[in-house]
Amino acid sequence: MSEERDIVVVGGGICGLATGLALHRKGIQSLVLERSETLRATGSAIIMQPNGWRALDQLGVGPKLRKTAIAMEGGRIVSIPDGKQGPILLGGEVRCLRRMDLINVLAEGLPSNTVRFGCRVVSVELDPTTSRPLLHLDDGGTIKAKVVIGCDGVYSVVANIVGLNKTGLYPTYVTRGFTRYENGHGLANEFVVMRNDELQLGWLPIDDRLVYWFVTRNWTSPESRATLSKDPMLLRSSIVKAMNDFPTEAIQMVSGSDLATVQYTELRYRPPWEILRRSLRKGVIVVAGDAMHAMAPFLAQGGAASLEDAVVLARCLAEKIKLANSDGHGPRETRLSFEKPAVEEAFEKYSKERRARAFWLTLQTYFIAMLLGNYSGIIKLMTVLLMAVLFSDKIGHTRYDCGRL
Ligand SMILES: Cc1cc2nc3c(=O)[nH]c(=O)nc-3n(C[C@H](O)[C@H](O)[C@H](O)COP(=O)(O)OP(=O)(O)OC[C@H]3O[C@@H](n4cnc5c(N)ncnc54)[C@H](O)[C@@H]3O)c2cc1C
Repeated sequence: MSEERDIVVVGGGICGLATGLALHRKGIQSLVLERSETLRATGSAIIMQPNGWRALDQLGVGPKLRKTAIAMEGGRIVSIPDGKQGPILLGGEVRCLRRMDLINVLAEGLPSNTVRFGCRVVSVELDPTTSRPLLHLDDGGTIKAKVVIGCDGVYSVVANIVGLNKTGLYPTYVTRGFTRYENGHGLANEFVVMRNDELQLGWLPIDDRLVYWFVTRNWTSPESRATLSKDPMLLRSSIVKAMNDFPTEAIQMVSGSDLATVQYTELRYRPPWEILRRSLRKGVIVVAGDAMHAMAPFLAQGGAASLEDAVVLARCLAEKIKLANSDGHGPRETRLSFEKPAVEEAFEKYSKERRARAFWLTLQTYFIAMLLGNYSGIIKLMTVLLMAVLFSDKIGHTRYDCGRL
């Protein structure tokens, strides 16, 4: 019922698996605890931009994943009422991955027994005598760990203990799904967004037959929110109804989608100022991924930023806990030191590097949410002005390089 471990990663989603893999590639073993019974991915697909590919290449899985999805050659945004079109800047390699492909490829790189399924962490505390983390599991068991990395998503229990406990909810929801065209979709390899006054539809082909689409829409009333979230058929038909002025191919894409993949998602986020002023670690406990920087998908960067976290975290940790040879020369040994000061130094370095990145990403996303939401004209004007000053390079976020693992 009680065991001891060196490094425990809480959560086996994109960030937890990537962190386990990054550590493994640095010669460091970890245990990933995942509450689900199997590998699973919420949401059908994920857009991966150049910064995400840089991180995936450092994790050694880029080449394999490139084979699963075609590259976008361009993008355009279409305003439905007047038919006006503008370009969507891509800034380099953009592909849309099936989430399950990403999860599987990350997991395949891990040694067997790294992920323990059906294991939910209920709480984490610091042992009052040793100051070491103690994880309480839902089966009543406990794990004493030397290091804890919280990759347990937006409702993170680990984030609570480091002091990051506030989240917000945007007044917008997203519906996502897959549409399969048995005889090929015949669409160009481009990222298309179409918008009318009611909603915004985006789509990207994954291969010759499969297309990922998403719709962002503001809530109308609390009743519709409760009902739509539970009924994919109703959700889809309400979207199709609001698309009456869209081109037929767009309407058919949504109406002909695979209902089993149609999913409603509320957009919860970590306020940027929380990321700026709160600690991202407590002693030898640290957070990564959505647990640190949950953000709405308006920049399509949350998953990529989680992969960057994994690379930076493993690099910082390896740098500090791998013991040098006694004479300080020659290659580092595989012996590891989990002395608290070394781990804390590593996490301090990681926090410093990731805080700035997470802050700017969440801030840009927050501003976009203000523009999409039902805010007054004056608020929207101020937001546009602030964005023009702070984010004059709109796709600067895709140029970020998390560096070598
Ligand atoms: C609608 C939508 C569209 C998006 N599109 C994109 C996109 O196109 N591109 C992009 O880069 N990002 C996108 N994102 C963001 C991206 O999905 C997330 O940033 C990413 O999934 C975060 O991964 P994570 O591992 O940190 O968290 P999660 O994916 O939430 O994984 C957390 C894992 O921890 C497990 N867990 C939770 N609590 C516990 C516990 N107590 N004990 C044990 N296990 C636990 C969960 O079961 C889960 O497996 C989108 C997000 C949304 C909502």
